[in-house]
Amino acid sequence: MARRKIVAGNWKMNMTPSEAVALVETLKPLVQSEDVDVVYGVPAIDIIPVVEAVKGTNVAVAAENMYFEEKGAYTGEISPAMLVDAGVKYVILGHSERRDYFKETDADINKKVLKAFEHGLTPIMCCGESLEQRQQGITMDWIRQQVKIGFQNVTADQAKTAVIAYEPIWAIGTGMTATSEQAEEVCKGIRECIAEMYDDATAAEIRIQYGGSVNAGNAAELFAMPDIDGGLVGGASLKADFGKIVNYK
Ligand code: PEP
Repeated sequence: MARRKIVAGNWKMNMTPSEAVALVETLKPLVQSEDVDVVYGVPAIDIIPVVEAVKGTNVAVAAENMYFEEKGAYTGEISPAMLVDAGVKYVILGHSERRDYFKETDADINKKVLKAFEHGLTPIMCCGESLEQRQQGITMDWIRQQVKIGFQNVTADQAKTAVIAYEPIWAIGTGMTATSEQAEEVCKGIRECIAEMYDDATAAEIRIQYGGSVNAGNAAELFAMPDIDGGLVGGASLKADFGKIVNYK
């Protein structure tokens, strides 16, 4: 069974609620697609207006983060049930900015991944190496650790529905894209890791995105690689270019 491509925008800390609705309207005619799943990862405060604005379209909404507790005294956090009730389908977890600036660990991310599944949310779990780690030759060791801990106690049936985003940190927001060969090498390695943890069927179904300066000019080459099932897109998701990335063929 061929895997469906999935192209997700990560808006990061951009777009006020009214700007968000305007962007959805601008992108509406551009992101239509029969064969690509389209997702907007939006700031928490934009979730409700964006869910409303994409109603009746092919676009699903992702949160950019979520807490792993059900409810209670966690000032400032957002629970999985809140996301589900608001109409969110996906949640981006373990983005390198959250790992770096907010000190999220693989163990934290694992708790969030498990909670997301418990509530029927699809996690888009990010992993990726720094430039130093790449130069040290430990890229795949590092990524395998992130995947193995991030997916601890995740069942094969859950893993089959998950999305992993491979995002080399040195390529995020820098304009320095990994070559399609570099991106494919790691995405293939992630699939092999999933096959070892589960089985070949699970590895064949899980979707693995590439992220890191994806744009309208490089999407086609990246997404044509056999183990790259689409992209997680930062900067270019805020522009009309996002439509060209969705319709990359
Ligand atoms: C990201 O933040 O997930 C990302 C890939 O950003 P950019 O596309 O801007 O590199």
